Amino acid sequence: MSNPSSNPPGSFVISLDFELFWGVRDLQTKAGYGANILGARRAIPAMLALFEKFNLHATWATVGLLFFGNRTDLLVGLPSQQPAYADANLSNYVALPELGPDEAADPYYYGHSLLEQIRRVPGQEVATHTFSHYYCLEPGQNADDFRADLAAAVAVAQRQGYHLQSLVFPRNQYNTSYLAICRELGITCYRGNEAAWMYQKQSEAAQTRWQRGARLLDAYLNVSGSNTYSLTQLAQQQPFNIPASRFLRPWSGRLQLLEGLRLRRILNGMEHAARHKEVFHLWWHPHNFGANLTQNMLVLQRIAEHFWYLQARYGMVSQSMSEVAAYLQLLASA
Ligand SMILES: [Zn+2]
Repeated sequence: MSNPSSNPPGSFVISLDFELFWGVRDLQTKAGYGANILGARRAIPAMLALFEKFNLHATWATVGLLFFGNRTDLLVGLPSQQPAYADANLSNYVALPELGPDEAADPYYYGHSLLEQIRRVPGQEVATHTFSHYYCLEPGQNADDFRADLAAAVAVAQRQGYHLQSLVFPRNQYNTSYLAICRELGITCYRGNEAAWMYQKQSEAAQTRWQRGARLLDAYLNVSGSNTYSLTQLAQQQPFNIPASRFLRPWSGRLQLLEGLRLRRILNGMEHAARHKEVFHLWWHPHNFGANLTQNMLVLQRIAEHFWYLQARYGMVSQSMSEVAAYLQLLASA
């Protein structure tokens, strides 16, 4: 891809929101969802082995709090300023008193050893999901809180030798007025939402049941289209928006008869991108694979095999978000 004027091949982008319990603490209990969180710790090595086998690149958007290996370091690394959400339960800092001393004692809230596994696999990008799983559209927080949060994420990553470039906004809530702060802190790209109306994000309270229902239907049937896009359509300014095409829903025993439709919808989107030299951006959370790991890994294997076919047939490439951003940077400066 050294010549930016030639049309690049289709691209398959994977991003994962790596958050463990920090991503769901306000909604779930350990009794109700803890097994999925612990299951994510088994799912991550399984996914990494598959990514390595199929030479798939992926962006791991990691909550900053997961970088720590123990409570002492974590407390020292907290941001100078913390958000005061109107709904106080949204703040992950309310969980600090219940935090165990280290990762061995508290596998729900620490992820340092998993990050070390991710860093060893070629093509894996360690990126950010903000420091505290920060909600940019919730009332009560402001731009200075966001800056302090993201700065703390950049700092802990830097101390461990990671240079953060890509950002995934928690709950996909983003605020365009915060993008300048991202740029200021070295972020080159973020994952925007799918374009269709049912993916337009508001605060959690403002989302309608109709939107949620339409998203569920869209996972199985072609409601919103393939959601692929060409790189030349994307905005030419950093941080670049690299929108999601599709959420990889967890395998469902309840909807088992529809599983074939769900997989077909993803494979068709990938194929559309490969044929038209566009991007297909698939995302999920490791804890989505935390239950039914075998079934979920079989789905992922089908996706990986389809990528290989598309690579051989159409020259499709696998890219992390930062690799896409590097290409967009070339385009912008050409
Ligand atoms: Zn999240």
